[in-house]
Amino acid sequence: MYGAIEAGGTKFNLAVCDESLNIIHQKQIPTTTPEETMAGVFEFFEKYPVEKMGIGSFGPIGVVKGSDEYGHILNTPKTAWKNFPFLQAMEEKFPVPTAWTTDVNAAAYGELKKGAAQGKKSCLYLTIGTGIGGGLVLDEQVFHGASHPEMGHIFIKRDPADTYKGTCPYHHDCLEGLAAGPSIEARTHIKGQNLPADHPVWDLQAYYLAQALVNYTLMVPVEKIVLGGGVMNQDHLLGKIRQSFLKQMNHYVEIENIDDYIVRWGLPNQSGIIGALLLAADL
Ligand code: ADP
Ligand code: ZN
Repeated sequence: MYGAIEAGGTKFNLAVCDESLNIIHQKQIPTTTPEETMAGVFEFFEKYPVEKMGIGSFGPIGVVKGSDEYGHILNTPKTAWKNFPFLQAMEEKFPVPTAWTTDVNAAAYGELKKGAAQGKKSCLYLTIGTGIGGGLVLDEQVFHGASHPEMGHIFIKRDPADTYKGTCPYHHDCLEGLAAGPSIEARTHIKGQNLPADHPVWDLQAYYLAQALVNYTLMVPVEKIVLGGGVMNQDHLLGKIRQSFLKQMNHYVEIENIDDYIVRWGLPNQSGIIGALLLAADL
């Protein structure tokens, strides 16, 4: 059996599966303090003979093997979790091989192996929800360098008519600050899910997201970009992003089939946990 954790800022998604990757049990528990949440994690996995484990965690996290910070959650605004040695706590309780990466890297891996990017060797996954975060799989491996990607916080060109200051506590008007779910609500005073499809804020949203995808494409030309997260539940948004992408790219990099290049997640709300199970299986 394999076990997996998708550790998010508001909830932990836990799952165990058999060798054929059939999920046997899945459970969500709230993210509170490490003591409380980890007690729930241990209780969940204790019932199963888990042979390998996969963890996709909210970040930033230490991913450089051999460094003091490896396996730890680093400088998070969730102060109770700051410097928490997550991987070590798991390995101490369950001494089995354990894969360790970010939640969004795990989601990218899940989408590559079982979701919208199946059959490819590289993909980029971007979630647009409470925040914006990106994961990267290159050559069928999740990407870790000196750290892991932080694609949500790239700096983008503002629409000159947009005067909204942005929600990012670090940069104000980075991509996340201008285009994550809370920015929609801050601009319009209406939650994204309650806004009509013809509201002008969606064009602005598409412009910023497409601009980010152009930048990613220029830097890491992956085979597919997969978009997920609550905001992508807006059915019309994907088409607007594709159109804006083509306009802004202006044929500098020719995309053969935009409908096949920028796609929605194939494993809605499950990319991360399935990716973490697959990372365990593939250890
Ligand atoms: P999280 O990022 O916390 O894991 P979600 O991916 O569900 O959770 O993202 C929540 C954000 O997405 C909120 O800002 C919410 O307003 C927005 N959102 C959720 N559903 C929709 C929708 N149908 N259309 C637009 N925005 C949505
Ligand atoms: Zn930022």
